[in-house]
Amino acid sequence: MSLFDKCESYTIAREVQAKGYYPYFRAIQASYDTEVEIDGQRKIMVGSNNYLGLTHHPHVLEKAAAALKRYGSGCTGSRFLNGTLDLHEQLEQRLAEHLHKEAALVFSTGFQTNLGVISTLVGRDDYLFLDKLNHASIVDGARLALGVTQRYAHSDMEALERRLAQAPAGAGKLIVTDGLFSMEGDIANLPGIVDLAEKYGAATMVDDAHAFGVLGPTGAGTAEHFGLDERVDLVMTTFSKSLASLGGVIAGPEPVIHYLKHHSRALIFSASMPPSAVAAALAALDVIQEEPERREQLWHNTRRMQEGLTSLGYDIGGSVTPVIPVVIGELEPMLVFWKELFDAGVFTNPVTPPAVPEHACRLRISMMATHTDEHVDRVLEAFAQVGKQMAVI
Ligand code: PMP
Repeated sequence: MSLFDKCESYTIAREVQAKGYYPYFRAIQASYDTEVEIDGQRKIMVGSNNYLGLTHHPHVLEKAAAALKRYGSGCTGSRFLNGTLDLHEQLEQRLAEHLHKEAALVFSTGFQTNLGVISTLVGRDDYLFLDKLNHASIVDGARLALGVTQRYAHSDMEALERRLAQAPAGAGKLIVTDGLFSMEGDIANLPGIVDLAEKYGAATMVDDAHAFGVLGPTGAGTAEHFGLDERVDLVMTTFSKSLASLGGVIAGPEPVIHYLKHHSRALIFSASMPPSAVAAALAALDVIQEEPERREQLWHNTRRMQEGLTSLGYDIGGSVTPVIPVVIGELEPMLVFWKELFDAGVFTNPVTPPAVPEHACRLRISMMATHTDEHVDRVLEAFAQVGKQMAVI
């Protein structure tokens, strides 16, 4: 078998393309925050991760443009050598404070942050414990790590405890969990996890990609939501969601951050975040701290959408957050459903295995603070119409 045979025989995407309901790689021609233009038509965007609607905030745009002028379009090197700006250091300091941690380190993406942190910290004799629904970047970080990885059923504290109890008492241990699970919209059982971590001498790391800016009284995420900041060792988040930019951060004890700065290959051997992206994240953090009403609006919109969908008869799983899955079931009907909604002017995200179990294909809605009541009503109308037409509700 030749190397490229698997490419030649990969046909499913082309089959779906031929049927006309291929949903991926749709090119956006213009973005107006809550609405986007695709194929010359406006769609309501309920498929972004732009929870606070900050990608178009005037303060964010102004700061990003100023940084572009002052520092140029890119850093052309790694943080380790020529790619550290005063802006990176400011962002690290501000995020460490916001996350109630001693220190922080920014990477060029959230994916790289998880790769770079997990693979560097979990050495040959260490043990790593992952929720089965953790994000792909955590799973890939585990693949690169030299230690032993154990996965436990989603949010199953008994399963986690069994695995912790089986690991050697003296071994280094790290439990990593998503804070807000991005396919389900539920929140990790962080109180249960930190209790077990303390009982078995494990460190904890929370990936708050979807919780930063969303959960907690100041938007500091899942640990703040549960009042557990002091008991969680490491908090990771990405800048590609509420922070309206691109990049990632790990925050935690100063010696750990110092060690990562000098050992993490994903940091040292990759170019740093470009100036405009750093400035945008810093400015988004300003807005998160100065305009808490945005978070309230996000939750208002979330409640309206959740209530509207459930009263139409949809199954939104265990969602208690702005991430709202609408479970359709089989792949093909879900893709047809996606296309009908798209044609009705609503942009959702289709989710298929392996991100979710077989027969649990879904459309994912992600709410934004900047959606209006009219947006929510129009999306619900489209769901009502398409659901009836397709006999889903
Ligand atoms: N963790 C989680 C839970 C995510 O959802 C994502 C992005 N989808 C990442 C990490 C990776 O972040 P980035 O987009 O910055 O690479």
